[in-house]
Amino acid sequence: MKLSRLGNKFSSNIGIVELMNELGKALSENKDMIMMGGGNPSHIPEVQNYLRKSMTALLNSESHFETMLGDYDGPKGNLKFRQALAALLNNLYDWDIDEDNIALTPGSQSAFFSLFNIFGGSDCNGQVKKILFPITPEYIGYGDAAIEDDVFTSRRPKIEHIDKHTFKYHVDFDNLAIDEDIAAICVSRPTNPTGNVITDDEIKQLEEIAKEHDIPLIIDNAYGAPFPGIIFTDIESRWNKSLVMCLSLSKLGMPGARTGIVIADKPIINTLASMNSVMSLAPGSFGAELALDLIKTQDIIKLSSEVIKPYYQKKATQAIKLLHTHLPPDIPWHIHKAEGAMFLWLWFENLPISSQELYERLKNKNVLVVSGHHFFPGLKEDNWPHRHECIRMTYSSEDSLVEKGIQIIAEEINSLYN
Ligand code: PLP
Repeated sequence: MKLSRLGNKFSSNIGIVELMNELGKALSENKDMIMMGGGNPSHIPEVQNYLRKSMTALLNSESHFETMLGDYDGPKGNLKFRQALAALLNNLYDWDIDEDNIALTPGSQSAFFSLFNIFGGSDCNGQVKKILFPITPEYIGYGDAAIEDDVFTSRRPKIEHIDKHTFKYHVDFDNLAIDEDIAAICVSRPTNPTGNVITDDEIKQLEEIAKEHDIPLIIDNAYGAPFPGIIFTDIESRWNKSLVMCLSLSKLGMPGARTGIVIADKPIINTLASMNSVMSLAPGSFGAELALDLIKTQDIIKLSSEVIKPYYQKKATQAIKLLHTHLPPDIPWHIHKAEGAMFLWLWFENLPISSQELYERLKNKNVLVVSGHHFFPGLKEDNWPHRHECIRMTYSSEDSLVEKGIQIIAEEINSLYN
């Protein structure tokens, strides 16, 4: 089989695909495995009840069901959904947008693929333009989402020690020189894998840098504001023409509906819509129709702040308490301050083995986490020990399983350091 360069890229080892396969295989081979590795949202009963009611209403409606399944939407996605969302965001944040500032995509993952290739890669003069992640660790799913090679570049963070066992990453602005080959800046907020929420001040500084260089700042709100609202700090949600805001219905509890949302200046939205047309004619209508009432009534905000956020925040607090109970206090372990998303990021300073070996050992003891070294897309290998000293653990499983998993992690860490 003779493949193109792109074909070869996708037929060889791709980080996120390998990781998903590895996690899936570990789970299917061992039913006793405690899953602390995935990014699937919990099945929260209140959310599911709401969605079940929306589905029933759709099925019983005179024409909605038929048009949802029987008609293509336009390339920007479902018009009624985009109108309702523009109204909600204007009302909530005074953003001054309309439906043509919004495009839907088949999941936000595909929005990132489109955006990274709209801005990154060879320009008309043959210069390879890059996407900058100003702070790593960052979402592994970005790493292979470019058609050309070497499109991503990223920076190490600054580390703030909050107390003996808590730390927080910050953007290291002293090390953020923007060369003319940078075409866009991208951050996830909250960040997968760390649960970090970069501060309003950091966002403002990044926005200034983006404006100064006439490039967009892409903010990935897959877990953030205003929905699903898995964000435990108060933040300001701003939008203007230099920002590209990405949202998703997945972490709300609808990953199966594959609905991503991009809010941006109209020329960017038009380009994104063209990419939608070429790749899939139109984004699917199902997620938009199912969530339409949630958006129109603004119940999505209530559900996010009164149900989804407290659900994850309580689980995070419990997991942190358990880590403090089980991990020996004299070992240099640190938890990234839990500010959102559904993960805890653990740093074992001077870990005697690599985080990948720790992952393997834990897997042999029926606990599945993710080794932290996967989460540095675009960062050149620079012998920085930190990137092999961290793991990501999800706390969304049943409480008793989370406790058992944490006990096993603590036992392993104890035996490694002693
Ligand atoms: N962004 C982040 C930070 C994520 O963690 C994920 C999924 O895990 C995505 C984007 C993509 O999600 P989806 O394509 O389901 O919207």
